[in-house]
Formats: sequence, C-alpha cells, structure tokens
Amino acid sequence: MSRVGALVESLLELERPLLVALDVDGTISPIVRDPDLARIPASTLSSLETLARAPGVGLALITGRALSSIARMEQLEGIWRAVEHGGLVLGPGQAPAPRELTPERREALDLFQHWVETRAQDAFIEYKPQAIAVHVRAIASEDPARAAKLLGEADELAQNLGLHVRRGKALREAEAIHHDKGHALAEIFERSGASSVFFAGDDLTDFPAIEFATRHGVGAFVCSDEQRGAPPASATLLQSVDEMAQLLQQLAERITR
Ligand SMILES: [Mg+2]
Repeated sequence: MSRVGALVESLLELERPLLVALDVDGTISPIVRDPDLARIPASTLSSLETLARAPGVGLALITGRALSSIARMEQLEGIWRAVEHGGLVLGPGQAPAPRELTPERREALDLFQHWVETRAQDAFIEYKPQAIAVHVRAIASEDPARAAKLLGEADELAQNLGLHVRRGKALREAEAIHHDKGHALAEIFERSGASSVFFAGDDLTDFPAIEFATRHGVGAFVCSDEQRGAPPASATLLQSVDEMAQLLQQLAERITR
C-alpha cells in the first residue's frame, strides 16, 4: 500500500465524529509569489465539499488570512473557519460579531502601518482587522538580504510597539491581540464535539495545531522547499501540496463509501 493509502487507512480508523482541519496556503493551495493569486485546485475543493457533507465528519479551515481573503478562495458550506490565525473562529453558517480594539492597540497598529507604508512598500502587505502581515517571499527570491532586513525591522518595531510578533517562513506579522492556530483548533475541537482530529499545515505557525492534533488523532506536516526548522517529531510527513490533495481525494472517496 502507498504511503498516502496507509495514512488514509489510519484516518478512517480514528473515532467519529472526526474533525478534518486544514491550513490553506502551502497545504491545500500551492504557494505562489503573490498571495492574492493563490488558488485551491478545483479537484481539492470537490474533495472538501464531499468531506463537509460526510456523516460523522466535520471540516475546518484554519488560516492566517482574513475572512474576506479566504472568501475569495472558497465558498464551502457547512464548514468551520478560523481566520487571522484564530483571531476569529466561526462555526458553520456563523456570521462574525463586531470586534473593537482599545485605542492604545489601534494606535500601535497604526504606527506599524506607517512604517509599512514608508519603509516596506516593496513587500506584500496583508491588512487584517487586528493585525498587519509583511510577506517577503517575492523579495527573498531576488534580494535575500533585503528580505532579511525587512523581517528584522518589522520584528523589532512590532516588539517596541508592544504588539505580538508572529514569525513565519517569509513573514512577520504584528498582531494587536495574540492568537495561535493551536488554540483555534482546540476551540473548534471542543465546540464541534469531535472525538478525534486530523490537522495538516506547512509552516512554523502551524506547529501548535499539529501538536494538538497528534494528541487527539493525527497531525501532519506538509514539506516544502522553503522549510524552516524541524517539524514536530510527532508529525506525520507529507511531501507536497499534491500529496495532500491525493490524501483528501482518497479520504473523501473512502469515508463516504
Ligand atoms: Mg500554510
């Protein structure tokens, strides 16, 4: 049996209800230089639709993207979404409630935004309701030193402003209120009433969720060329976004049989 086939079998053996929770970029959508152009392949969307409808299965997407950004990539029904690294966790069909930052937090974020607009215009910037993310993937391929300098400056400024710093592979994010995907996954696990969980992610920011999943089911790490740091020792390894897509397709076929 293939490695993917063996993993599918072990997921089918997990106690139901099973929560299938997935990071998006680099896990189910191939990494591209401009995050606005990232897409989830149609075949994967179809596997996700099947999983979302399967009895005894819950589906969750857990992403750093804002809700408006993930909505451009999928309009799946009946699924959980944790966006902004868990800053907002929404059950199936649930609409977001209004959120307010304190004036101090808002001001700190505004100062970070000023730095971004004056010193980091060449980076890809993601503005979220409670955070600003600086992506340097495109810069790093042409000028690694410039990319490293921007990451260092963003990191230092965010810390000086009392903002939380999130460190990803080609990312520094200044966050007014700290969240992480591990807590988001734990919340969805609890609220959905799942008995076991499968989670897969590809970045440093996914490690807490991978570790949570290995304690309650299976946690997987999707490898890539730009990998930084060793994945959690307990993680099951997948070689690529393509292999992840095969896994989802086979799981969707088997779980509804
Ligand atoms: Mg990712």
